[in-house]
Amino acid sequence: MSENSSLKTDSLKLKSSYPIIHKDECKGCKRCISECKENVIELCHELNNLGYNYAKYKDDGCIGCGNCYYTCPEPLAIEVYISRRKRK
Ligand code: SF4
Ligand code: SF4
Repeated sequence: MSENSSLKTDSLKLKSSYPIIHKDECKGCKRCISECKENVIELCHELNNLGYNYAKYKDDGCIGCGNCYYTCPEPLAIEVYISRRKRK
């Protein structure tokens, strides 16, 4: 493997899928936690500005399935970044 292709592989690894949870939009209903089959979302012990324990990504293991996004009743609480490699 050339140095260039090695660098390319490393940058692809860095761009794995992940959810972006906007903590102050979250109402702590836990639906995303129930629907995440990879078990990579948890409820934070801290409260957000609305007074709810908010959902938080565990920082590893997301497969970009989008279940958390589709199940969340709060339109602005979750986004999911899906890596280009996984879309193929
Ligand atoms: S996209 Fe899927 S795997 Fe990733 S956090 Fe959401 S439910 Fe879990
Ligand atoms: S489904 Fe939405 S509102 Fe409910 S805990 Fe998850 S991010 Fe928060």
